[in-house]
Amino acid sequence: MTLPALPGQSPEALSLWLHEQGEPSFRAKQILEWVWKKKVVSFDAMTNLPAALREKLAASFRLSALTHSQTQGSADTTRKFLFKLHDGRYVESVLIPANPALYGEKSDRRTLCVSSQVGCAYGCKFCASGLAGFARNLDPAEIAGQVLAAEQIAGERVDSLVFMGMGEPLANFKNLMAAIALITGPETLHLGARHLTISTSGLVPQIRELADHPQQIRLAISFHGATDEVRDRIMPVNKKYPVAELMAALDDWNAGKKQKLTLEYILIQGVNDSLEQAGILARHARGIRAKVNLIPYNTVEGLEWKRPAISHCRAFQEVLKDAGVMATLRIEKGHDIDAACGQLRLKRETAEGLIQEA
Ligand code: SAH
Ligand code: SF4
Repeated sequence: MTLPALPGQSPEALSLWLHEQGEPSFRAKQILEWVWKKKVVSFDAMTNLPAALREKLAASFRLSALTHSQTQGSADTTRKFLFKLHDGRYVESVLIPANPALYGEKSDRRTLCVSSQVGCAYGCKFCASGLAGFARNLDPAEIAGQVLAAEQIAGERVDSLVFMGMGEPLANFKNLMAAIALITGPETLHLGARHLTISTSGLVPQIRELADHPQQIRLAISFHGATDEVRDRIMPVNKKYPVAELMAALDDWNAGKKQKLTLEYILIQGVNDSLEQAGILARHARGIRAKVNLIPYNTVEGLEWKRPAISHCRAFQEVLKDAGVMATLRIEKGHDIDAACGQLRLKRETAEGLIQEA
């Protein structure tokens, strides 16, 4: 049987465990500090704990939920980490340096792109994560543990997180929220909620639930089509939650939140990149006061979709700007390291026979 991972234990759960072991409650703070602040990689390194307690911990918990399996670096210093899970599955996280255009050349801020599931059940037609279907949800230790592991490997702090890796975070709502409690908790990772961005393909009931959450977590929507006609073709989720329903939920979201919403829009040649779509997208964005993030499509092995010419991407962006919408054109970082979500894990799992090739 696999032991539970220590970084998955909330401060309350850990205190309860200590109580059951007959240990004093102040040990919880010490253990949490070793795990989350000092980020030790062995129980023996927890030098202020009695040896007997260290042994009990080692017999009851794994110190990490993930094993580092591979790092890919890219020319722009984006790094992608592949992690092996206890059941042999893989997930990946991408460490992205600050965008100098946004933060200035000297900024040393870093964002980690975190996965929430192994695979994804939503089957968007352009996405590597959806390609091989859904395997399982990540548990809270596997989600929050990606941040710990990335900081350990890189020897650098992570300043912000985007839930834009593999999986649909809002389809794993309970574990996601438990992971966020660990990530933002003062005794655990202690990152500010406003430095977290959840990206969703548009799960309306969960968006509404998240809107009621007291923390100021940011939300990004994978929009990728301004009309039901276009969105239906590439994102099956739109059949369940069509554009009008999604917009109504986002309008309500704004009522309780200070931060601007982001509409993510991948530009795919001949699919969603007409200037007519740009005009309709502009109207939606204005309606919910959202900024738009345009991303030229990142080619996925085995899929026929292509990115439009950069000049066309700029023309699409101009339509938005002319309509008074804040629109950035993101030239993907890490294009040379399989950076689009799910690609590295897909290669490894296919090679190891976990995924049958179609
Ligand atoms: N399931 C969530 C979060 C993970 S996907 C969601 O869909 O929002 C993170 C982002 O990467 C999404 O905006 C997704 O549409 C985008 N993406 C997927 N495949 C891509 C590709 N090949 N090129 C560029 N972006 C891609
Ligand atoms: Fe899943 Fe998001 Fe990829 Fe769609 S874009 S298949 S929801 S990970």
